[in-house]
Amino acid sequence: MYALARKFEEEKRMVELIPSQDSIMQILKRTGAFREGHFIYPNGKHSPHYFQMPLAFRYYDTARVLAVALSRKFRLEKDISSQLPKISIISPSSGGIPVAFGVRDALSAEQIYWAEKEEGQRMFRQYVNQGEVNPCIIVDDIIRSGHAIEETVDLVKKLGARIIGCGAIVRFISAPSEIEDVPIKSLIEYDVRMYEKEQECTECKEGVPPEHVRF
Ligand SMILES: [Zn+2]
Repeated sequence: MYALARKFEEEKRMVELIPSQDSIMQILKRTGAFREGHFIYPNGKHSPHYFQMPLAFRYYDTARVLAVALSRKFRLEKDISSQLPKISIISPSSGGIPVAFGVRDALSAEQIYWAEKEEGQRMFRQYVNQGEVNPCIIVDDIIRSGHAIEETVDLVKKLGARIIGCGAIVRFISAPSEIEDVPIKSLIEYDVRMYEKEQECTECKEGVPPEHVRF
């Protein structure tokens, strides 16, 4: 009974230690990772917001705050905390690598893997073998559509590993909220404003000069 009460106290403290969405947003603004203006995406859509997440991860201190905060959300999951340290942290792309290293560090997880795109195809490096990958948490810096995560889930399943967690610093609310029955954790749930056409764009109407962003 006491053990249960103590565990509950610990969990409560852990939740209190997770910075609010507002304070995370302040970090992203301060580092230039969250930008406001008038942006045209490669798919032609217009938006007044743009996230360039590696800008927040270029400073060790902010990178650490973000990764530690995300790791606390994972530690609250029994399926994850009970399996530590025999867990792998997996990034779908280069953007998620600093997140993966930071989360690994905070959780003392055993393994890290990351996928890369080769000739348009997401894959792990050669010689990453079936049976070697621990139950995994997939992490990324930002989840916009969820495609990168979905492709990574397929890769992980092919290696025979179980997915026990998934998360990112920012998740667009239009993206999936769970994957393989695992809820996607994030520090910011962002309701992005996106215009399909120039004619619908408020910033175009106001004559704000647009910037083209690469992705
Ligand atoms: Zn526009």
